[in-house]
Amino acid sequence: MAQSLDSATREAVLTRVRFYRDLGITEFYRRPVDPALLAQLAAAAEVQPAAGNENSDSTQTLGAPSIPLLSVDSMGDHESQSASASQPDIFQEDNSISPRRAIPIPPPRVAAEVPVAERAAALQLIRDEIGDCTRCPLHKGRNKLVFGDGSPLARLMFVGEGPGADEDAQGLPFVGRAGQLLNNMITAMGLKREEVYIANVVKCRPPGNRVPEPEEMATCSPFLFHQIDVIRPRVLVALGATAATCLLGQRQPLAGLRGRVHAFRGTQLIVTYHPAYLLRDPRQKKEAWADLQIAMRELGLKPPKRG
Ligand code: URA
Repeated sequence: MAQSLDSATREAVLTRVRFYRDLGITEFYRRPVDPALLAQLAAAAEVQPAAGNENSDSTQTLGAPSIPLLSVDSMGDHESQSASASQPDIFQEDNSISPRRAIPIPPPRVAAEVPVAERAAALQLIRDEIGDCTRCPLHKGRNKLVFGDGSPLARLMFVGEGPGADEDAQGLPFVGRAGQLLNNMITAMGLKREEVYIANVVKCRPPGNRVPEPEEMATCSPFLFHQIDVIRPRVLVALGATAATCLLGQRQPLAGLRGRVHAFRGTQLIVTYHPAYLLRDPRQKKEAWADLQIAMRELGLKPPKRG
């Protein structure tokens, strides 16, 4: 007698079936064997010469047809062989069996463009989704979550590592000393801070400003990627190795990533030094300026006249 499943088991089975379906696996039982095909196979067995077939297997199950098996040697000219042979083409696909759904290939990781008028609301949705986040241990030391700041229509977006003490206190990215330098860099490009968008790889301050752990980045970065997809800046600037590693998904010395344009999620990604590093080693500012000039070229910007 058929028994009904309890709701937890039923839900678990449904979840598993959906998972298999997403993989393209839709059949879980052996198909019934078509009697016509069986008869065809039996007929083929009758006409098959007993000798001279190197692939014939004397241990075959009783009643099973002696069908030439595909060997490596015969693979290449199998088509011409089967065309000339008079035996039924049992290798032909059985059209009565509907083709299995192809395993879906993941779509390119670039989301559909969000209309300009909806970008602010779309960013707010991401903020709402993050909520009062406790997804990773960084929430424990947080005062304010630092979502991001700037224009939802920005053509230029900067990505830093994670909030420091000032950012944690104010809930805004790059408002401390490094932020002051970033502001100067933005001004040097001929832009205002309000015209760009600034966010970080992680949205909560790591203790003692340490580098975020890979798990913390993995937990938080999907929200950053959504922000990037919504804003779809023409140019994205990764500030420092942590941002570059997170965005490009590969750990490489900064030197190998700087000085060129990387295609990333429908934007042009440029890698440069983190402003905090430039504060420690101001000699590298020249190099950073060269990187920003690549960004300016991509944006069609000319440096403002000094005066
Ligand atoms: N450093 C960062 O990486 N991000 C900030 O917001 C501030 C300092």
